[in-house]
Amino acid sequence: MKTSINIIQPDDWHVHFREGEMLKVVTKYSARVNRRCIAMPNTTTPITSSIQAINYKKLIESNSNSINFEALIPCYLTNSLNIDDFTYALQKKIFVGGKLYPSNATTNSQHGVTDIKKIYNIFEIMEKENSVLLIHGELNRDDIDIFDREKYFIDEELYQIRNTFKNLKIVLEHVSSDYGVDFVNSNQNIAGTITPHHMLLTKDDVFKNEDINPHHYCMPVVKNEKDLIALRKAACFDNNKFFLGTDSAPHHTNDKVQNQSLKPGIFSSPCSIELYATIFEEENALGNLEQFSSINGPLFYGLEINKETLTLDKRSKEINEFTEEGNIRIKNFSIDKKINWKVL
Ligand SMILES: [Zn+2]
Repeated sequence: MKTSINIIQPDDWHVHFREGEMLKVVTKYSARVNRRCIAMPNTTTPITSSIQAINYKKLIESNSNSINFEALIPCYLTNSLNIDDFTYALQKKIFVGGKLYPSNATTNSQHGVTDIKKIYNIFEIMEKENSVLLIHGELNRDDIDIFDREKYFIDEELYQIRNTFKNLKIVLEHVSSDYGVDFVNSNQNIAGTITPHHMLLTKDDVFKNEDINPHHYCMPVVKNEKDLIALRKAACFDNNKFFLGTDSAPHHTNDKVQNQSLKPGIFSSPCSIELYATIFEEENALGNLEQFSSINGPLFYGLEINKETLTLDKRSKEINEFTEEGNIRIKNFSIDKKINWKVL
């Protein structure tokens, strides 16, 4: 039995750092184990210009407590981008790609795109620049059940994008269903990120009768056991198409009370790589962790694989119930089972 594993230092291809006090508190938890993180651009004022991206990157890196840490910023795609600035920022690698939020799919996505055809000109530029389109793949419409949003998005929009822009690299973010896994596996130039919570929770952990557990409420919502099993198989065994993206998404506990405005998101960065290691061990796939956490992502994005390494020891990791600093109070993601691995 292994008591220690040494892997190439991971990257997290999907994290929310927010802004203000929250950013100052949460950033160091991701920089603790990751060399690079893609910082989601759905801040209160979305990141849509090169100058905003440069400033946001600086702000995150200066709060990371690490000299090696790098924040990568995608552009929040809207109907009204300045195309010249966008193209310039892609060419200069100021933007690592573009993020598509369907309108009102999750936190601060009210600026998102209502009709994807209106931004086909943007996809064209991205395809030409060999850039990456990151997608929150859910269709949010009144007649669609919350558990079916990913499937509908794939059927009604993603197939269309895929077939129109065949060379555009696409990441289906936080894949949450077996349907999503199948789509990624059966199409070219597409990869998926998988969160720890989608491999640990099912809808019974979120919805009980009329009640919602606000701390397990996220978008896309966690689904059925068959979906969890498909995601575990994809992360642990499926070739090179899936990689690490925690979607760690902190909210103040005041925004996590059960009411109309309950905000979706799970804060997992204090124990992210430890959760993944625990899952891979359960699947007898510890040997594949590095591929998922540290190799598949940079290969897909066309970036260098990290030179640094990270060691995890087999010992149980205790997680505090909350991350608390100053006025910030965030519930840490926790599960019933033990976390068996720890970064010292
Ligand atoms: Zn997210």
